[in-house]
Amino acid sequence: MIGTKKMNSKKTKTPQKNPKYKILFVSSELHPFAKTGGLGDVSNSLPKALKNLYQDIIVLIPAYPFAVQKAGTIKHIAKINLPLKGFPGHLGLPIIEGKKNSVSIIETLLPESKVKVWMVESEIYNRPGTPYFDDNNREWDDNDFRFALLNYVAVEIAMGRIGLEWQPDIVHGNDWQAGLIGALLEDEHLSKKNMRPATVFTIHNMAHMGVYSKDRFDALELPKHLWNHHELEFHDDFSFIKGGLVFSDRVNTVSPSYAEEIQHEEFGYGLSGLLSYRSERLSGILNGIDMKEWNPAKDTMITKNYSIKTLDNKQKNKSAVQKHFNLPKKKNTILLGIVARLVYQKGIDLVLEHMEEILELPVQIVVLGSGDLELESRLRQWVNNYPEKIQIQLGYDESLSHLIEAGVDAFLMPSRFEPCGLNQLYSLRYGTVPIVRETGGLGDTVIHASKKNLNNHTATGIVFHESKGSTIVDAITLSSLLYQNKDVWKKLMITGMKQEYSWKESAKKYLKLYGQAIKDRNKYKKHAPVAL
Ligand code: ADP
Repeated sequence: MIGTKKMNSKKTKTPQKNPKYKILFVSSELHPFAKTGGLGDVSNSLPKALKNLYQDIIVLIPAYPFAVQKAGTIKHIAKINLPLKGFPGHLGLPIIEGKKNSVSIIETLLPESKVKVWMVESEIYNRPGTPYFDDNNREWDDNDFRFALLNYVAVEIAMGRIGLEWQPDIVHGNDWQAGLIGALLEDEHLSKKNMRPATVFTIHNMAHMGVYSKDRFDALELPKHLWNHHELEFHDDFSFIKGGLVFSDRVNTVSPSYAEEIQHEEFGYGLSGLLSYRSERLSGILNGIDMKEWNPAKDTMITKNYSIKTLDNKQKNKSAVQKHFNLPKKKNTILLGIVARLVYQKGIDLVLEHMEEILELPVQIVVLGSGDLELESRLRQWVNNYPEKIQIQLGYDESLSHLIEAGVDAFLMPSRFEPCGLNQLYSLRYGTVPIVRETGGLGDTVIHASKKNLNNHTATGIVFHESKGSTIVDAITLSSLLYQNKDVWKKLMITGMKQEYSWKESAKKYLKLYGQAIKDRNKYKKHAPVAL
């Protein structure tokens, strides 16, 4: 009997169960090589999860110097001559001396996986800073050139023109930096009558649309016929993301609620009409988390490992966070954490407006982040006035972000909108109670600590509705009250830790989406509505 059982369980794992696709996954970020936010995490863990489902997947990113440096072993595998006349030597922007229209592809592996990474090597990426900004947080003024280049290279690979025996069935583009791929591949099909792979486009954030002028459209040598309101043109400029939305065989976002929200004016950034027009092709698939990298029982970046069984050890991480930030230990005081890009989206200004009231409560706050200079300086002022209650570390620090997740009692995410959000998922896994606004993926993943939900053991955090400072004060007040009742708080922590947000289920949903994209290929309707 035992033998039979074993055979059966083996059978369910056979690779034949899922279709096997060749997938080119195109992104501007890839943790640990290049990351500014959630896109970097997803580009790492989704391809790994797909590889575990026996998919043949390659991730394509620019060869930023900091990415190449972190990659370790690399090899040159191809040189591509792009079918472009002068790009990117227009408008006084950097010309790639002597090799104007050619780039190289270098190959490496994603750490702790067998996922291949191809990096596009070009002078235009050879700069310090982040993928998008210089060291002073100013956006590179030729990001349209930099990412259009990535798109052109993706198209050459997609069409099997780079001399390697690998051509994808699916090209999966992510965010505006990969938005032109769908448009360029549809052009291969319509104008040049070439069979193209199917295309999937994932929106990680509608707020970033890649909008540039007509001059740049011409300089980028984009097919001229795409300049119309139904296709790339957007209010006399053009938009990269619109290319992904109009032309991709399937479009998705990173949570079901966000897929719904962006079809409304408030969240659609002028493209809600287009998105609802394409609603049959639009869906939401919740992000997962990398369960190995974010595991409090094994995390090497935290002070003391813990699990549900050894929950008391979490306290040692709290002490370590307080020590790191020079905060005194105080009894019955809830320690709140924020790790985020300090930008409008994240609602930090709403917290700042009511900081006086918040700091009167028995709370301490630690913030790790960088971004908007005004938000940074307003936060610093509060630190100067209340150093025993609030501390901030500006900049990006992966290790400290793990320690904060492990050490704080509650994690604050008062976002105005949040396509999925990853930190609330990390918080749940670390027994750190998330305090979130009900928007996008935050509402999809955190269950409010109402009496009923506490009684039936489903509550995992504190959820508030309105995007208002006073509501945030109420939510923090409630958290602080619940925190005083150790049994209730422990129940919240443990229910959160039992939630399952691994990538496995979501990766299966992506496989289904790829299948749908292949079926839908070339059924693009020419007359998408004009952006209002
Ligand atoms: P977004 O993509 O909008 O920035 P997400 O919650 O989806 O938001 O993902 C943010 C990711 O970036 C998380 O992994 C978070 O821990 C990380 N992160 C953001 N700011 C910092 C920082 N200053 N230092 C370290 N990690 C950060």
